[in-house]
Amino acid sequence: MRVLAVGAHPDDIELGCGGALLAHRARGDEVTLLVMTTGEQGPQDARSRIGEQEDAAELLGATLRWGGFGDCAVPTDRSAVTVVQDAIDASGADLVYTHAPLDTHQDHRATAAAVRAAARRARRVLLYESPTTTDFSPVVYIDVATLVEAKLDLLRAHMSQVLKNGLVDLEAVEAQARYHGFRGRLRNAEAFESDRFVWDLGGSEPTAAAVAAAPAAVPVAAAPLATVVVPRSRRP
Ligand SMILES: [Zn+2]
Repeated sequence: MRVLAVGAHPDDIELGCGGALLAHRARGDEVTLLVMTTGEQGPQDARSRIGEQEDAAELLGATLRWGGFGDCAVPTDRSAVTVVQDAIDASGADLVYTHAPLDTHQDHRATAAAVRAAARRARRVLLYESPTTTDFSPVVYIDVATLVEAKLDLLRAHMSQVLKNGLVDLEAVEAQARYHGFRGRLRNAEAFESDRFVWDLGGSEPTAAAVAAAPAAVPVAAAPLATVVVPRSRRP
């Protein structure tokens, strides 16, 4: 599977779906990150945040792309959609992660809108929660039972945010994984809203083994006729 995760700022993706991306990498999926801005308005200068995001991508074994937009100025017009479309085309992604739409940060809202427009033909679109999300009703849960510590390591790569920005709180990240795990009947989980999630059980293209194992179809003419038993008392 090829996966594209899109976030407005460095650390958004790791916070929202870092555990899921680690699970993808563990099963050999290709992961691409698209970060729309360098987060230069944050408590650290842009150079540091670029380096931190590069370190996190390397830890994850993911390809990193930048959107090239200004922090707090992700546009809501076609230019943002085009950047996401280019990333979908380049990565060949069949699963796209991004921000949930209801959020107090304008960059998160603009990124969510651009991704949902660009991914309108994708079969799977999962929307993650941010510390600034205002309303969130998850329907898809991903088991990250053994990956919480590794997710915290991804976040530690964003040291300027962990130390200086109260929104990146590693204790809260752990608690959130446990809470979503509880709701998803798991130990630890990440949770997502979804526009679409096609669950492929292999029904559209059966494998050779499945075809060989399936019972031969019974021709219509050879099918036994149904027998209807009419109780004696109701016979004419
Ligand atoms: Zn953000």
